[in-house]
Amino acid sequence: MSLQQNLNEIKNSIPAGVTLIAVSKSQPIGKIRELYDLGQRVFGENRAQEMTTKYESLPGNIQWHMIGHLQSNKIKYIASYVNFIHSVDSPKVLSEINRQAARFDRVIPCLLQVHIAEEETKFGFSPEEVTQFLRSGTWSEMAHVKVMGLMGMATFTKNEEQIRREFKSLRSLFDKLKQGPVPPAVQMTELSMGMTGDYKIAIEEGSTMVRVGTAIFGERAKKKQA
Ligand SMILES: *Cc1c(COP(=O)(O)O)cnc(C)c1O
Repeated sequence: MSLQQNLNEIKNSIPAGVTLIAVSKSQPIGKIRELYDLGQRVFGENRAQEMTTKYESLPGNIQWHMIGHLQSNKIKYIASYVNFIHSVDSPKVLSEINRQAARFDRVIPCLLQVHIAEEETKFGFSPEEVTQFLRSGTWSEMAHVKVMGLMGMATFTKNEEQIRREFKSLRSLFDKLKQGPVPPAVQMTELSMGMTGDYKIAIEEGSTMVRVGTAIFGERAKKKQA
């Protein structure tokens, strides 16, 4: 299958109003350029330096979405240009994004990443933590971020019932938080869920942004051991 066929097939299964983020991590510049030439403008990366190298080599009207865990000391590399950060997994990361965005007089749209999968991971708020955080008093200082919603990843499993259940739980948290009250820097409109293996289920469960890599580009090359 060609990039064009892959892209068309996915676009045909995504309703209008759902944003397709082409996840280009570990893909070479040439392939991203090819997809750009086919009209794709939104790309997702999970490493700050890799994203910056690609940003510097590719057309300026690409929208770059950070989807991977961000160390606080890496935010300065992307703050001048990043269009969206899906992976805010602690209050500390959000404050640092706010601080770096201020240097460029920007407001960066962000999502709070919530841990919904059964798998253990260090990253993401629990549903209780995210609810508490939205009610906390730290928001008055956040003039340079806009929290647009939530992001989550389902368990890596073939069990579709489980995946659906996890997406449903994120959706209901999203709906609950949306009813507010929320701080002025928050506007609950986006729900980022769904990857190659589960984006169709995610859309059925209310996703507004799907992050698809493998189904567009094919399998990623394995990272070489250092
Ligand atoms: C890699 C990645 C994706 C895309 O995964 P595919 O299975 O290749 O579609 C989506 N979201 C995040 C956070 C990722 O790291």
